[in-house]
Amino acid sequence: MKSWINRATNWYQSVFNRLPAASPVATSRRVNTQVQPMLSNDNYDSYLPFSGLFRTQTGNLALMPTTEDESAYLPSEQLDTGSLPVVNLTPPKLDDNYLGQQIDCYRPMRDGSPNMSIEFIGDQVIAHNYGHGGSGWTIGPGCADYVIKQMQAEKKINFKHDSKISVIGAGVIGLMTAYYLLKEGYYNIEIIAADFEHLASHNAGGLLAPVSMNNDPKGQELVEKMCVNSYRFYQQIVDKRNDDFNKLPKTGVKVVPVYFQNKQEAALESLVDAKLMKPSRDVIVDFGNGAQYKMVEFLDGIFIDTYEVMYSLHLILEEKNIKFTKKQLQSFGEVDSTFIFNCAGMGAQELNNDKNMRSVQGHLCMLKQQTPLDYMILIYLGEDENNLGQKRKKSVYYMPKSSGVIGGTFIEDADSQTPNEEEFDQLISNARLFFGRS
Ligand SMILES: Cc1cc2nc3c(=O)[nH]c(=O)nc-3n(C[C@H](O)[C@H](O)[C@H](O)COP(=O)(O)OP(=O)(O)OC[C@H]3O[C@@H](n4cnc5c(N)ncnc54)[C@H](O)[C@@H]3O)c2cc1C
Repeated sequence: MKSWINRATNWYQSVFNRLPAASPVATSRRVNTQVQPMLSNDNYDSYLPFSGLFRTQTGNLALMPTTEDESAYLPSEQLDTGSLPVVNLTPPKLDDNYLGQQIDCYRPMRDGSPNMSIEFIGDQVIAHNYGHGGSGWTIGPGCADYVIKQMQAEKKINFKHDSKISVIGAGVIGLMTAYYLLKEGYYNIEIIAADFEHLASHNAGGLLAPVSMNNDPKGQELVEKMCVNSYRFYQQIVDKRNDDFNKLPKTGVKVVPVYFQNKQEAALESLVDAKLMKPSRDVIVDFGNGAQYKMVEFLDGIFIDTYEVMYSLHLILEEKNIKFTKKQLQSFGEVDSTFIFNCAGMGAQELNNDKNMRSVQGHLCMLKQQTPLDYMILIYLGEDENNLGQKRKKSVYYMPKSSGVIGGTFIEDADSQTPNEEEFDQLISNARLFFGRS
């Protein structure tokens, strides 16, 4: 926490030192830069402790830095706003009567990269596909395709279209894997899962962006390829080129503009390089209430309504007679198949005895009584440790899911034993401050 405060202080210092020395406002600001603004009370209009936001001289809100590139975070009055296009966005309604269900859930993160390897245990062949952290929806389709190709490439096994195949897990990764198996011509498939509802996969925000993972360089390269292939999959659905999804009344996937603090935080450049997304542009996002930020805009972000796509995948798989079995497995040996796809998410920590797996807690607040807005936004507010010593990264994001959803926290190694419920209040305060008065 200390380093975050130091960073914040240094940044305040560096920004305000750039203000004209003769300005009385600037002088008094300089005196006030000893983190004082961030430690004042929780009032709606004040600086929130560690919110990562502050109010500028003109009364606008600005963001704290999260990367070394401080110029990306200059308060808007120091920007040449005249040269940047202004994007007027409607903020979500965040008064108490618009707040709905509060959800805490867990990203299955694997240090190094997701496990997408093939393992031989006795006479069983296990294709692992777990550990996608905060990006299961972002890279899930690509990963499903990849692990199936890995299995097919194994020369010493007899993996045939009529082979009996078990998929462990019914989250996005298990369902996508079963769907891609079908597409590849396999049909004798059983999905075995401890639970089918209220999974991390249902609760996810639905933004396509490869974030909140802890990949080593090799893992990162693979993840970027998976992201490119997944974007293609979703784009096919949007363009009505996927026959399975075309039959459904709602697909749950759409293209909407998405806003980030900068290109690094967006991590979407591999999609721009692949010419799937257009390059971003710098804009001033203006919520029309004094909350105004310099941000980057990607016009062709992919939003996935996770509830709808989970439902759609169930419909498609059921129609093709895929068997669903509810069972909590203790070992692969309990499965009566030679070919297993292990898509157990956090469950793989025990099932595959994987010490590299850890959960990253996220808090979400569903909104109600409002039409979802046609954009997505994600900003990071800084990192610290909570009072349990858990590493915590804070953000504010909005996704147009149902009536809208706001998130979010990223708390490493926090599980259901440490729900950190106080985060909900902080999340709502941060979101209110970021979006300004609606
Ligand atoms: C707050 C939050 C926001 C998120 N936002 C996004 C986002 O915007 N974009 C994005 O791409 N990703 C996002 N994610 C990440 C995404 O939700 C996950 O990466 C994804 O859901 C992981 O899918 P999964 O199928 O591996 O795991 P899960 O959905 O957890 O499914 C695991 C399945 O395995 C089963 N299982 C586990 N152990 C066993 C066992 N021993 N025996 C039998 N079955 C077992 C479970 O019952 C379940 O069916 C977010 C996650 C969170 C928590």
